[in-house]
Order: sequence, then C-alpha cells, then structure tokens
Amino acid sequence: MILRQLVSRRLAAPLCGGARETQRRGTLVEMARPSSDLAEFRQVFSNAKHIAIITGAGVSAESGVPTFRGPGGYWRKWQAQDLATPEAFARNPSRVWEFYHYRREVMLTKNPNPAHLAIAECEARLSRQGRSVVVITQNIDELHRRAGSQHVLEIHGSLFKTRCMNCGHVTANYKSPICAALEGKGAPDPNTNDANIPMEKLPRCEQGMCHGLLRPNVVWFGETLDSDILTQVEKELEICDLCLVVGTSSVVYPAAMFAPQVAARGVPVAEFNTETTPATMRFMFHFQGPCGTTLPPALDTTWLSINLLTCLFVSRCILLNVVFGNISHFTCVVSFLSHLS
Ligand SMILES: [Zn+2]
Repeated sequence: MILRQLVSRRLAAPLCGGARETQRRGTLVEMARPSSDLAEFRQVFSNAKHIAIITGAGVSAESGVPTFRGPGGYWRKWQAQDLATPEAFARNPSRVWEFYHYRREVMLTKNPNPAHLAIAECEARLSRQGRSVVVITQNIDELHRRAGSQHVLEIHGSLFKTRCMNCGHVTANYKSPICAALEGKGAPDPNTNDANIPMEKLPRCEQGMCHGLLRPNVVWFGETLDSDILTQVEKELEICDLCLVVGTSSVVYPAAMFAPQVAARGVPVAEFNTETTPATMRFMFHFQGPCGTTLPPALDTTWLSINLLTCLFVSRCILLNVVFGNISHFTCVVSFLSHLS
C-alpha cells in the first residue's frame, strides 16, 4: 500500500534531492508527494548551473493559441490529427496548406505571455552569471523566440519553417500569406468549401531551379522526431542540474519521457501545470495553476525583492504598533512607500 505524504520534503542537497524519498514502516511505504514550497524551489534554482525547461501546449494556450484537439477543437470539420499527417498532405495538399496558412495567420494576432517572458528573461539574466537555460518545446508557434529566448530546441518543428518535398531544404518563412493563392483562404468555419488550389500555386521551393512542393516543417502524426534535435535534447538533459516541465501533460512520447528520465538520475524536476499529470509523483516540485501565474515568481528575482519589501513593510507596521499603539493605515502606507523610494 502506498501512502502519499502530505508534507513537503526538505532537500539534503540539490543534486540528490530529486530522488523520491521512501520510508518503510512495517509493510507500509510512505511516499513523499511533490513540494509546492516556492522558497524551497528557489533555493534549488539558485544553485542550478544548467537549467532545462520543457514546455508544451499549456504555455501556448495561455496566449490563446488553438490546438485543434479535444472537444471543440475543430478547423472546419477536422481536428489536428486528421490534417497533420503525411497521408492527409499526400491526399489533399491544398486543404492541409489552408489549415497551416490559417494557423500562421492566427499567430500574427497572438503574443508571448508572462510565462514565455519569464523564461526568456531568466535565460538572459542567468547567462550573465555564466549559467545556461535551454528551452525544449513541443510548441510550433515560435512564441518562445518572440519572447526573446535564444537557446530553443523545437522538437516538433515550427509553423514558420518550410521543407521542400523534393530537395529537403528547410528554411524560415514568415510571409503572410505564404503564397498568393492562399490569400483570404483557410477560413475555419465548418461550411467553408475547400479552396482546391492547384499544386503549382501552392508554396514552392525557391532553391535554384528546384521548384519542389513545400510542406510545413513540423512533425506530423506518425512521423519520427528529427534525430539531430533529439541528440541535442539528450545532451542538454544529461548536463542539466534542474529541469522544469511547464504546461505539458507529460503524456505525448517521447517528450513525456524526458523529465522522468532526468528525475530518475536524481536531478530536481519542477512541474508547472494547471493539473497533476501521470508523471507528477516522480517530481520534486509541483506548482499548480496557469504557468503565466506560477512561473514568473519562481524565476524572477524582482518578485523576491517585492516580497522582501512586503516583509519589511509588515515588520515596520508591527514595530510601530508596538511602540505607538494604534497606528493608522496611512502611516503604514507612507512607511511602505519610503521603502520603495
Ligand atoms: Zn527544393
């Protein structure tokens, strides 16, 4: 029988604390549940030199990026798994390009949210201290890059890269629309008719005389991940001494294996998600809630400063109350503001 301990655990050392503590009492095994103690996390964070941050759809969802999965997640009458396949593209490249054209256009109206910005700011700040941050993302929307993250491994590719079906050339492409024939196409309404764009008018390769058909450079259902990217991911996971799992349900393989593998070698893993996941109990920390709310205070030193000021404010109020008896809120506020100035 496994009992989940309701108290947070203390760290013996940053690198060995990731191992789940178990304690045998007769036939009972008590298993510590992940800590939600922010101060405890920050202690581990402050000692980390190589931080790997694995992000998923939850981070993009907070920017309003649709996933076209689950209930209500339709483009026309299809979901992502119906169109994001090599078979669907072979059958109807015009329809699949309409779908991706729509997704690219939608991204022009979306912006990085506080979670993206906190990660980017963290990378910039830590790099000045000789520490590294890598983002390993399943998202294809490039919001991490737009937020300012430099070291990003996009394991599922990008909406803004194309790959030639003929010569294999991969290139960034931010044109809107990506080709003239897609102008005004891609409407998501279920009653919209297919545009049936002729093959030669779909996006074509511009390398020399190639002129091959381009496809979105994303990993479709049934395809394997890029082996070069996977090698880089493995390298980063081997050297990281802290791993954050942000906005991902930890159910899509192989990404779902990354963090549990890191945790298995005793490295602290912190999960930031709106709910617990199948992997939560393997991790040292779990912070529940929207990651745009939970992540910034975990990574941002400004947050610490504000809290220190709050502590000073409260302690000053208590001191004034002790010395002068009743004290007005006004005096407290003046006292607080004097700390800020
Ligand atoms: Zn080509």
